Amino acid sequence: MLRTRGYKYELTVNNKERTLLTKYAGISRFAWNWGLANRKSRYRTRAGAARYTDAMKQHKELNRLKLTDFPWMYEVSKCVPQEALRDLDRGYQNFFTNHQQIKRKQTTRYIGLPIFKKKGKCKDSFRLTGVIHLFQKVKQVQLPRLGKLRLKERPNLPVSARILSVTVSRTADRWYVALTVKEVQPDCNPNDGPIIALDKGLSVFTALSSGIPITRPKFLLRQARKQDRLSKVHSRKQNVSNNKRKSALRLARFYRRITNQRHNFLHQTSTYLAKNHSVIVTEDLHVKGLMQNKKLSKYWADLSHGLFQRFLAYKAPLYGSKVIEIDRWFPSSKLCSNCLYYRRDLTLADRIFHCPLCGLALDRDQNAARNVANYYTIYQFLLFPVAESSAETLNVCGEVVRPASEQARVDESGRTAPTVVSNNSS
Ligand SMILES: [Zn+2]
Repeated sequence: MLRTRGYKYELTVNNKERTLLTKYAGISRFAWNWGLANRKSRYRTRAGAARYTDAMKQHKELNRLKLTDFPWMYEVSKCVPQEALRDLDRGYQNFFTNHQQIKRKQTTRYIGLPIFKKKGKCKDSFRLTGVIHLFQKVKQVQLPRLGKLRLKERPNLPVSARILSVTVSRTADRWYVALTVKEVQPDCNPNDGPIIALDKGLSVFTALSSGIPITRPKFLLRQARKQDRLSKVHSRKQNVSNNKRKSALRLARFYRRITNQRHNFLHQTSTYLAKNHSVIVTEDLHVKGLMQNKKLSKYWADLSHGLFQRFLAYKAPLYGSKVIEIDRWFPSSKLCSNCLYYRRDLTLADRIFHCPLCGLALDRDQNAARNVANYYTIYQFLLFPVAESSAETLNVCGEVVRPASEQARVDESGRTAPTVVSNNSS
C-alpha cells in the first residue's frame, strides 16, 4: 500500500543562494497576486461563464504576458508561477465548496476568498515539481533551475520513496525544503501494548489512565516577559529602516525557537504513546470552542492540543496502534471511576474527586482519564446523562449547549459510538 508523507530538512545557504531563493519566493508571490487581481477584474467586467477561470488558462495567459510585460520571470523555473496559480485555484475551489456546504447546512465553518500577499507579511515560500534528486551521502538536494543546495543533515528517505514535489520556505532567517513523497507503507504488526486513555486539560497537559500525569509545559508563557520586551522594542523602531528589519528578525527567531520547543515536546509525547500502546482513547476536544474563552485561550494555544491530536492520528498506524475518539459529551470528570456514582455538584474548583458513595478520593484529572478508559471498554454500551453545569460544559468542550429535553440529552450522549480516528490498515 502506498502512502504520501512529507520530509522536511533545513538548508545551508550562502548569500548568493539566499538572494536566489528570495527571488523565487518573490516571483511566486507576484504570480499569486497577479492571478488574484486577474480573477477579480474578470468577475467584475465579464458575464456568464467568462467570469470564471482556472489555473491552466491563467498560466497560459501569464506565459503570453511574460514575453512583453514580465521578462524577468524567465530568471526562475516555470514551475514557480504555475504552482502559485494552482494554489490560488485550490483556494477558490475551497471557497465555492464551502459556500455550497453552508447553503445545505452541512457546516458552520466559513472559508473566505483568497487574499493578496504582502511582501514581508506573508510567508516566503514556493513549490517546484519535476526532476528532484537527493544525494544522501553528500547531504545535497538538486532542484530544477536552482541546482544543488546543501542540507544541514543527512536525509533519511526510504529507498521506495518517489519525490512528487518540493516546497522551499523560510522561517526567520533559515530556509527549509519539504519533500512530498509517495512511499510503500511497510507491514506492521498490531501493537501488543496496553490500552491507555488520556484526559487532556489545562492544569496538566494530559492525565494518563496508567497514573502518570504529563505536566503542562509553558513554552511561550514562560518567556512572556521576553516576548513583551522584543515586541515593544520592535514597535518603537522607525518604519522601513534597518533597525526595524533587525528587530523583526529577532522577534521571528524568538517565535521560531518557541515553535521548535513545542513541536519537540508534542512529537516525543505522541511517539511514546503510539509506540507503547495498542489503543489510545482520547476525548474529542473542541479546541476551536475552547479558544473562544478570552481569559484561557492563550493557555490552550500554548499547549496545542489540536496539533497533538493530529500527530497521534498519523503516528498510530506507523506503530500498529489505533486512536479512538470518544463522544465529547461524555461526563468523564463527574463520574466516579470506581462505582459509577454521578456527582452533579462537582465544580472546576474541586481538584480532588471525592465519591460520597464508595469513598474514593482521587485527583480530578486522574479520575477522568480512568473514566475515558472505562468508556472504551464498558460504558459505551450504556446510557449516561450529559454534564450540565456551566463550568463543566465550558471545561470539556467550550460550547454552551443546552439540548432540548432530558430525553434528548440522554439519547445524544448515550447512543453515540466512539469514533475511530485511525487504525492499522496493514
Ligand atoms: Zn464511587
